[in-house]
Amino acid sequence: MSLTKKIIIALILGVIVGIGFTFAPGDVFSITDKYILNPIGQIFLNLIMMMVVPIVFVSIVLGTSGLGDPAKLGKIGVQTITFYLVTTAVALAIGLAVAFVLQPGKAGVFDVSMADYESESAPPIMETIINIIPENPIEAMSTGNMLQIIAFAIFIGIALAVLGEKTKGIQRLFEQANEILIWLVNAIMKTAPYGAFALIASAIGDAGLDAVGSMAMYMVAVTLALILHGAVTYSLAIRGLGKGSPIKFYKEFFPAMSVAFSTSSSSATLPISMKTAQENLGVKKSISSFVQPLGATINMDGTGIMQAVATVFIAQVYDVPLTFTAIIMIILTATLASVGTAGVPGVGLIMLAMVLEQVNLPVEGIALIIGVDRLLDMLRTSLNITGDAACAYIISENEKRKENAEA
Ligand code: ASP
Repeated sequence: MSLTKKIIIALILGVIVGIGFTFAPGDVFSITDKYILNPIGQIFLNLIMMMVVPIVFVSIVLGTSGLGDPAKLGKIGVQTITFYLVTTAVALAIGLAVAFVLQPGKAGVFDVSMADYESESAPPIMETIINIIPENPIEAMSTGNMLQIIAFAIFIGIALAVLGEKTKGIQRLFEQANEILIWLVNAIMKTAPYGAFALIASAIGDAGLDAVGSMAMYMVAVTLALILHGAVTYSLAIRGLGKGSPIKFYKEFFPAMSVAFSTSSSSATLPISMKTAQENLGVKKSISSFVQPLGATINMDGTGIMQAVATVFIAQVYDVPLTFTAIIMIILTATLASVGTAGVPGVGLIMLAMVLEQVNLPVEGIALIIGVDRLLDMLRTSLNITGDAACAYIISENEKRKENAEA
């Protein structure tokens, strides 16, 4: 049986067993989770997280040195960031439109008197930009600071390209390290069906379905906007800009989406999403290794959609009308908030506080959606990494065409 089939079965079984747990008596879930699901899920998660920092570092060094010319890197960088910002803005517009049509905040009775939420302050934007250059690259690696690792790796890659013959030994060392990492990711991927099953059953059993009740319309709105963005925006981009088949894209990229679904973490999924893009979609390594890690850090269309729908939802619950200026503010701040969201579970919700504060909505409203956020996080993370892969695919296809035309 192919790995994709095994993963699909694991996803379905995970959802069924997870829902089953919500009906089972007392301790059945907590004991099974503690001794079976959680250990299996965590071991799988650790296995893939173990690969993230080395893979990002090694593959960006190789990708940058492989591009050869720093100007080419600059051009790809500009294309990547433009794609990321434009698609995020489109995602937010879709999220807002769906929320205005479905009115999830009017679809039930919400008790706001008990709502309580302590927001965490987001770091100032200038500080984030300055800190992209790491003071200490080893610390960046030990703390998993993605943007800093990316910056350091780009510098080393440029130096390798410029020094050429002189550093051939180290270039070779990186190439061999890459072989080892790819071999390991392939091996770990074989355990994905088991890991995914355990993580999904555990997440659903843990979140329970009680919270769903009055939040059903909110969940429908977020899910519908996520599906629309994937089916329309990305499909149009893949067809129009990349001249490829969206159906084939989704079919080939599915294993990575399912791992994102089960881990709810773009960062943790990175080794698998890069491997899937390179091997199944034929994305050039030099492009995938630069575009995808950057995307896993700054491009979160699914998160943006949740933030847009949640903002409208909270405005409706608290009966605060949203002016046109407020809507523009939501698009601007939610774009920044999704850029600032780290690719780990649940951070999108923390960053939502920043959007709410900008448009003077009560941050306590977040308390209403916390209960169902874990479930939606699974879906939005799948879309988050799909956006990165779509961008890598489009840029890679265009590069290939250019090279063929020149040849
Ligand atoms: N879990 C999301 C991700 O890793 C981030 C979020 O929206 O919380 O992509």
